[in-house]
Amino acid sequence: METRQQTPYIGITVAIGGQLMLPLENLVACPQCDTLHAQTDVPDGAKAHCMRCGAAMVETRSTAITNVLSLALTSFVLMIAAVSFPFLDLSIGGQTNGTSVLGAVMAFSDTFSLPLAFAVAGFIVFLPLLRLGAIIAAVLPLVTHRTPGRFHRHAFGLAETLRPWSMAEIFIVGVSVALVKVAGLATISFGPAFWAFTLLVILTFFQDTLICRYSVWRALDTSRA
Ligand SMILES: [Zn+2]
Repeated sequence: METRQQTPYIGITVAIGGQLMLPLENLVACPQCDTLHAQTDVPDGAKAHCMRCGAAMVETRSTAITNVLSLALTSFVLMIAAVSFPFLDLSIGGQTNGTSVLGAVMAFSDTFSLPLAFAVAGFIVFLPLLRLGAIIAAVLPLVTHRTPGRFHRHAFGLAETLRPWSMAEIFIVGVSVALVKVAGLATISFGPAFWAFTLLVILTFFQDTLICRYSVWRALDTSRA
């Protein structure tokens, strides 16, 4: 605990005799391993890491918000590209068949598999888009120096709730497994949407692991009207 003041990193706080040494609102949990740390201000340009697993935990407010907004905007544009451009072409014996993501979803749209079409469209397109929109809406007042209201905190809360339900990466893993099976039978060429989706999955990984949610929550809370 003494070393906490001398370093930008925040120290591990342990419970003594089942009693937490600090009030709950002064503790931050590591997003990777849940180790509790004491909250402290991070100097400009510094980053606080978890002392147990090294995961980035707290960034300075401006860095965190810039990162959140830029990743969310990029992902939003990529998602639009992933949905509108051709996804892949299959050629067998001189015949070529191409599809887009929406085309793949519509393939399930006969009567019996209609719920499946809704589920696929929801989990890989609409929920990720809604989540990205919510993130952008939540941090926009922080970037434009306006005071965030209840709506913005709800929007960021919604984005956090939707996190496990955005399954674009599961879709791309599924497609890759299917392509390995088809590779021997047909010639496959990837469209721009495939690469957009792949990039999106990489960005989602960064968004989920490197982004400092704590800084965003704190900024939304402290600039409260
Ligand atoms: Zn950790």
